[in-house]
Amino acid sequence: CADAAMHHAKESGRGNRQFYVSSMDASALDVLQQERQLREAIAHNHFVLHYQPQICLADGTLQGLEALVRWRHPERGLVGPDEFITFSESRGLITPIGRWVMREACRQLKAWQDQGLALVPMAVNFSALEFRQRDVAAEIAAVLLETGLAPQYLEIELTESVLMHQTGQVLGTLNALKALGVGISIDDFGTGYSSLAYLKRYPIDKLKIDRSFVADTPGNSDDVAIVTAIIQMGRSLQLKTVAEGVETQAQIDLLAGLGCDLMQGFVVAMPMDGETARVWLTNHGVEQ
Ligand code: C2E
Ligand code: MG
Ligand code: MG
Ligand code: MG
Repeated sequence: CADAAMHHAKESGRGNRQFYVSSMDASALDVLQQERQLREAIAHNHFVLHYQPQICLADGTLQGLEALVRWRHPERGLVGPDEFITFSESRGLITPIGRWVMREACRQLKAWQDQGLALVPMAVNFSALEFRQRDVAAEIAAVLLETGLAPQYLEIELTESVLMHQTGQVLGTLNALKALGVGISIDDFGTGYSSLAYLKRYPIDKLKIDRSFVADTPGNSDDVAIVTAIIQMGRSLQLKTVAEGVETQAQIDLLAGLGCDLMQGFVVAMPMDGETARVWLTNHGVEQ
């Protein structure tokens, strides 16, 4: 009986271990498969940019566009950046994707400008890792030259995490971009590391108020207070403020009243594929 129990324990122990091993195999396989699919997507340019307008709160004029990457996945359809940017970083694949995004965003804006559309900057997102790993300033200078886009029509969006480690490299890159004439925005402002010292140290042009602060305005008085404070601080520091994720007329009224400069959100337009954006720009973007 004791033998049998021991035998049973061994068996189920072995069984458990097998189960454990095979579930590890499954997730390792998932990672490998996702990595393989991403490499394939990179090799064949299976990415697409969508574009979302930024407009002036005071007069409704177009003031900018933001490029947002999507992965055209063979089985899953269009996959959003939240589902593959961090993964790409962990597999060392963010650099080719980021390079493609930069070149494609500049190429597209130049093509629109050649048609008399969109004489406004295009914003391109960078993650902290990309900013550390790449010589962003040199790369951008080369892409501008190659595409013929004037530097004042490019803007880069960084999160606070890029700026929280005080490094000479980051300051050097930002100063080089500034000297080139490229704009610099802080994305998701208010959600990152809370030191505000970098606002005076770095050559920043715009603060993008994170969507999470805008979402529950005007109803939530704490969020109204935060949004008000960011707009006032932006004003005092001569930074443009951009409200992200604006969805309602009540939010527009609040933000306009507070003196926020620009807004971006579904109430204006969703991020649009190139052709839809071209049509939108034809209808909205010409009155410069
Ligand atoms: P983000 O730069 O803060 O971009 C704004 C996100 O909010 C976009 O999500 C956009 O579709 C969404 N959005 C815009 N207006 C509204 C609204 O009114 N309501 C709601 N609920 N959402 C709105 P998306 O395209 O999924 O991008 C997510 C994040 O992925 C971006 O946040 C950005 O951090 C990152 N990302 C996008 N493209 C790139 C890229 O080319 N490179 C890198 N490194 N990151 C990227
Ligand atoms: Mg952004
Ligand atoms: Mg944002
Ligand atoms: Mg965001």
